[in-house]
Amino acid sequence: MSDTLLSIQRMLDKKSLDIVGYFNPDGSDNVCSKVRTILLIGPKEPYFWDVFKKSREYKNKKENPLDRWSKKTIKEIAIKFDARSFFPFEEPFQPFITWAQKCSTMRSSPVRLLVHEEKGLFISFRGALGINEYIESPDNSKDICTSCEKPCLTACPVSALNQDGYDVIRCKEYVNTPSGQECRNGCLVRRSCPSGQNLRLKEQSNFHMRAFLSD
Ligand code: SF4
Ligand code: SF4
Repeated sequence: MSDTLLSIQRMLDKKSLDIVGYFNPDGSDNVCSKVRTILLIGPKEPYFWDVFKKSREYKNKKENPLDRWSKKTIKEIAIKFDARSFFPFEEPFQPFITWAQKCSTMRSSPVRLLVHEEKGLFISFRGALGINEYIESPDNSKDICTSCEKPCLTACPVSALNQDGYDVIRCKEYVNTPSGQECRNGCLVRRSCPSGQNLRLKEQSNFHMRAFLSD
């Protein structure tokens, strides 16, 4: 890892965040030409949840606490490294999924969600940093799923998420039934992936599921 990446990771460590991948943008990425490397930032689980729960944003119970905390935290780090910050929940919306697929660490899975080599199907982004230094992104040819028996394809009890994609309405209907309560502790498809399946705390999954159901 380059010195710059190590320095940024050290700052992120204090907030239980991780560089989950990086790539070198080109003209199609529609970012300032000074940005030579984009780092995608995600939670370092399971530690992340405890850090976030101690934050003012979590405690003051206002809307979108996780987005507000992420914005504040990542912007502070961006300033220290003369970097630009980008967020998946803020306009102008950037193509985070496309960006992720340009990183060596992530791929599209058999259920069409992104899969990360360590965080599996629980990969998520709290933001991204665009830095002016060129740090060559590693070889992009890694295949995460080839040797896996692919339990993700059959883990959803109502086939709301499989090789045909994601039926959000069917998923929400099931999660709202008594038999769907286990999904509130984490989607069974995401939990079936051997990579990262024990990293996310149930309480954190529950928080995300409540936000998803109230959408
Ligand atoms: S949350 Fe439950 S119902 Fe929804 S896709 Fe995951 S396993 Fe299926
Ligand atoms: S369960 Fe296996 S096939 Fe499915 S996303 Fe995870 S590694 Fe890939």
